[in-house]
Amino acid sequence: MSADKNHENLFQTIVAHAKEYGFVFPSSEIYDGLAAVYDYGSNGVELKNNLKQFWWSSMTQLHDNIVGIDAAIFMHPTVWKASGHVDGFNDPMIDNKDSKKRYRVDHLIEEKASQYQKENKPQEAQRLLDTFNELLKKEDLESIRNLILEEKIVCPVSGTANWTEVRQFNLMFSTQIGSVAEEANTIYLRPETAQGIFVNFLNVQKSARMKIPFGIAQIGKAFRNEIVARQFTFRMREFEQMEMQFFIRPGTELEWYEKWKEIRLRWHRALGIPAEKLKFHVHEKLAHYANAACDIEYAFPFGSKEVEGIHSRTDYDLSRHEQYSKKKIKYFDEEIKQSYTPYVIETSIGADRCFLMLLCEAYTTDKGIDAEGNEKERIYLKLIPALAPIKVAVFPLVKKDGLPDKAIKLYNDLKFEMRAIYEEGAAIGKRYTRQDLIGTPYCVTIDHQTLEDDTVTIRLRDDASQFRLPIDKVKDWLLERVSLQALLKKLA
Ligand code: ATP
Repeated sequence: MSADKNHENLFQTIVAHAKEYGFVFPSSEIYDGLAAVYDYGSNGVELKNNLKQFWWSSMTQLHDNIVGIDAAIFMHPTVWKASGHVDGFNDPMIDNKDSKKRYRVDHLIEEKASQYQKENKPQEAQRLLDTFNELLKKEDLESIRNLILEEKIVCPVSGTANWTEVRQFNLMFSTQIGSVAEEANTIYLRPETAQGIFVNFLNVQKSARMKIPFGIAQIGKAFRNEIVARQFTFRMREFEQMEMQFFIRPGTELEWYEKWKEIRLRWHRALGIPAEKLKFHVHEKLAHYANAACDIEYAFPFGSKEVEGIHSRTDYDLSRHEQYSKKKIKYFDEEIKQSYTPYVIETSIGADRCFLMLLCEAYTTDKGIDAEGNEKERIYLKLIPALAPIKVAVFPLVKKDGLPDKAIKLYNDLKFEMRAIYEEGAAIGKRYTRQDLIGTPYCVTIDHQTLEDDTVTIRLRDDASQFRLPIDKVKDWLLERVSLQALLKKLA
């Protein structure tokens, strides 16, 4: 089997695992789902909440100059004029008349370029990408279509080059606000959370008495009508972003940009992602508002792809809002006795993409030993303990001899400190396996020896090894390993 096929199979296995074990379900599945929209199940929501909590604490708790906000999804429509999204948040797309499938033109071109790469024709690949970028800059849609025809790019479904013209497609969802139709106004579902931060710059700076340099962090939903929704929660139409805008003195942006690159890479490493699977992809072609930009990419089974963007956005956003709102948005810097429009470094990460990265990284198959001592393949999610949906499972070895009472007592004590579960019934090996599959790092078993000497068996997920610990030490032993504090300390 080819490496590509293997990776594709691995990814499909992870997607199936996510559904079967309550991490992610297709939205409205009983109605056959809604493309690129997903729901989080009982384990998924815990993992995602833990991830968001880690991000939030790492921003607001570890940096005394970063505060949070929670802005509304609906914003004044002029916000999106000012930000450039109404006029510029477009992807050129093309339809195949035979298959009726729609494609993002940049995806078709990139696909062709990587084909050239595979054929050992790097110059051809570069020439194609350069030509495309030139045409894109000029918004010459007709020539872009001709390029697709000249390159003999065909639809992967129909195999034909029977293409429509190329059209620009705005990715924002719109809806109506107002109770009476005639009064209704078109507004947009925000395509990024950042603008909620920019329009609140002065409110936050004044109310929280922040001095530059300082940051504002926000976690919230964003919506994009993605033309091609692919790869599970990697590209969704409704997703969640964790964004932080860091306001600085003009001229210091490149220094701060480098600092934030480093801070953010360390955060990804703290999630247990190996260094060789993370890389910076520096943007050669910058957005009109940026003077430096890069992505942190993770090596997903389907290739190295963006998980987070770090952008030096200059004073573009605040200046535009000043211009469109006609309100002064300036900061008076006491230190240098000057008033200016702050520059901004943005770090923007998708919670769902990051969740997918964690799932891909955690999915592990190992040779293990079953309850009867036979060798068998073991599947487990090697999630870092602080993020695991369930931190500890408490089991009585058997459902008699007073073991359940003792186990329930321990569970009732632990549940105030961490997400714990209690389970009795099935054979102990089966119960361990079920916890492995959802990534529970520790199981505690109350057995007959517990009745004699008050020690319990601790069973570790990653190597299935076991050891005994006095029951009164269990809570502290667990807290040291599963608490968010333990994870945050990795960033110290
Ligand atoms: P892409 O090039 O993959 O479309 P982007 O460069 O448009 O992403 P940004 O606008 O920089 O993405 O958004 C910041 C982050 O938000 C991304 O790094 C990603 O993690 C997340 N994100 C963006 N679009 C989506 C989406 N459709 N589904 C899930 N996450 C998304």
